[in-house]
Amino acid sequence: MTKQIRTNVLGYPRIGAKRELKKVIEDFWKGTYSQDELLKVAGDLRIENWKIQKKEGITLIPSNDFSLYDQMLDMSCLLGAIPSRFDWDGSEIDLDLYFRLARGKSKTDGSDQSNVLPCEMTKWFDTNYHYIVPELTEDTDFRISSSKVFSEFKEACDLNIMTKPVLIGPVTYLLLSKNPDKENFNPLELLHKLIPVYCEIVKRLEDAGAEWIQLDEPIFSTDINEDALKALQISYDTISKAISTAQLIVANYFGGLGEHLSTFTNLPVQALHIDAVRAPSEAALVCDAICNDKLLSVGIVNGRNIWKNNFEDSLNTLRVLLSKVGKERLLVATSCSLLHSPAALASETEMEDEIKNWLSFSEEKIKEVVVLAKALTGNESVSDELKQNKEAMQLRQSSSLINKEDVKNRCNTVKPENYNRTLPYQERKVIQKARFNLPELPATTIGSFPQTIEIRKKRADFKKNVISRSEYEEFLKNEIKETISKQEILDLDVLVHGEAERNDMVEYFGEQLDGFVFTKFGWVQSYGTRCVKPPIIYGDISRQVPITLEWICYAQSLTERPVKGMLTGPITILQWSFVRDDQPRSETAKQIALALRDEVQDLEKSGIGIIQIDEPALREGLPLKKADWAEYLRWAVDCFRLCANGVKNETQIHTHMCYCEFNDIMDSIAALDADVISMEAARSKMELLRAFSDSKYPNDIGPGVYDIHSPRVPSVDEMVQLLEKALTVIPREYLWVNPDCGLKTRKWEETIESLGNMVKAAKTLRNT
Ligand code: GLN
Ligand code: ZN
Repeated sequence: MTKQIRTNVLGYPRIGAKRELKKVIEDFWKGTYSQDELLKVAGDLRIENWKIQKKEGITLIPSNDFSLYDQMLDMSCLLGAIPSRFDWDGSEIDLDLYFRLARGKSKTDGSDQSNVLPCEMTKWFDTNYHYIVPELTEDTDFRISSSKVFSEFKEACDLNIMTKPVLIGPVTYLLLSKNPDKENFNPLELLHKLIPVYCEIVKRLEDAGAEWIQLDEPIFSTDINEDALKALQISYDTISKAISTAQLIVANYFGGLGEHLSTFTNLPVQALHIDAVRAPSEAALVCDAICNDKLLSVGIVNGRNIWKNNFEDSLNTLRVLLSKVGKERLLVATSCSLLHSPAALASETEMEDEIKNWLSFSEEKIKEVVVLAKALTGNESVSDELKQNKEAMQLRQSSSLINKEDVKNRCNTVKPENYNRTLPYQERKVIQKARFNLPELPATTIGSFPQTIEIRKKRADFKKNVISRSEYEEFLKNEIKETISKQEILDLDVLVHGEAERNDMVEYFGEQLDGFVFTKFGWVQSYGTRCVKPPIIYGDISRQVPITLEWICYAQSLTERPVKGMLTGPITILQWSFVRDDQPRSETAKQIALALRDEVQDLEKSGIGIIQIDEPALREGLPLKKADWAEYLRWAVDCFRLCANGVKNETQIHTHMCYCEFNDIMDSIAALDADVISMEAARSKMELLRAFSDSKYPNDIGPGVYDIHSPRVPSVDEMVQLLEKALTVIPREYLWVNPDCGLKTRKWEETIESLGNMVKAAKTLRNT
């Protein structure tokens, strides 16, 4: 019998197919669940995950990929890197401290520690997962301070399951850290203190019986300098010497190695993992470069999306690699952890079968890994799977659900002038001023008003058919009416309808566009216990009927003041969805842009003079390597322009972004050519606005004057001061007054008070 090719899974989703973990952790926070109960549910989920993988025959099953909040936070706890403000006494880190690090508060809310700021959170590479940023200083010392990785390994051993403990590698850990007090802090200076602790950890795992240990170094996929490459070399030279029988596997994922390839392939470890989905052409180069004894784990099953693997294509790639390294040294793997993919397709009982047949979630993905490994050695037992897969691929390719001639034609016949307004901004500004006659420093909001419990309840009732469509719509109209009247009383200058009809800014549009499908349980962890359910874009996108028109027009009919039409932009819809893999992302974005362009023009035709197109995800779409930025920004900006710029000169286009770090993409922001841009600026006290003055940003700007993340009501003075600061870099006739972002998470009471103060602040400055 031929020896099987081994398989490798980098990590498995941990939140539970029905978000079981979320529920128990949140109950624990509320105090309605005990720690023991929480740990029991968590343990059951962990064990279930291992059993699924064992049953399917995965060779390298991960452990320590499980987490009650975040794997980077777990690393900080393992290493004892706890910021001093938490008054940690150096003993084993307990759950209380663990959650306090993440959330600032814990179950023991009443303690004197309840006001301690949590650690910062930021995006994990180019995913929508967010990790807790390690906070380090020159004085940080490292010491094993959590037994999680050891006890989880043992827990699996006791069940007779040999697992591969997974750790974030030392260099990735350091390079993702921050020193909040020192901007030019070089975390690599801590490497000499960190490496001995890693040595101790791997040694302890070896002593406990671990055969394989995975160290994740996705930092290889980013732009790193010589120092970082040296640090990688030094780290693995030392760590590999700390053990004798256990084997190390260093994993890179989310991108190619590029010029770091030789550093990677020369690491003195037993196995390397590469992402052959993101960098397919590099796999063969890596094979040629690794020494004769190293194993290569080829990540060929995509952990970042929900499409079925194309077995034929994958086998073609794998066969080439197999011929180079031989079957003893090849591992078939997921491209990255399956954390970024939903749990199990089987739960989607209501999805159309035709579409379901194109998809694969985590449970299906591990089966794919096994089938590919078996098929590579010609194992007959998988011939049915291969045949079914081929059929599914063919059906998908030719499906009439996907391919819409008219959409494709329209995309191919876009004319250069479709991207441009007919007059430059300076001239439009004059025309728009005459049309709207707004005061100086016009006051407005970003779109949403409080989503009250009542609104959510009505929506849920409507979805469950408890109330009729007409009853629901009546209710929404009433909400809009009240929202408009409140804004008039507040004396805001440009009003909004309040977005009461929207559950989520992407889902709402996706639900009304052709080419999208929604799952019932397709949850993916976003951070901590927060999960998102991204829509799936499976086919050519088009808009059959207007989406927002009726609501906006109704709102406008109630007032003399301009009401802003409110849309989510094409790039944000793309970024926050699972995107089809059978055409370039840029093409899919263009289809969304054209569908939304119709909405923009319908709004204009109905007399809506101001239209806002939100693009909070524009910046996060930036590729990991700077060399790829220009290409992305080119098509992203083009899509926004295609969506927005078909309007007349007297129509005012706004855009909104939830951040203000524009320094390195300022030209692209300006190239959107929106008449007005609003963004978050209050938390940085307008510091970030410098980018706008340095680059002489040409259009109108509304820097947020108050943080909407907290219920605190900002004073008039405070906002006057921020506006005065803004006026030092932005000319008065270009400045707008608005909050940082939408108000949907706030309560009405504080919203009215805050906006009242905001309008007063604007008026104070108008009179000076
Ligand atoms: N218009 C949206 C709102 O106000 C914008 C949300 C966002 O920027 N994320 O809620
Ligand atoms: Zn925002």
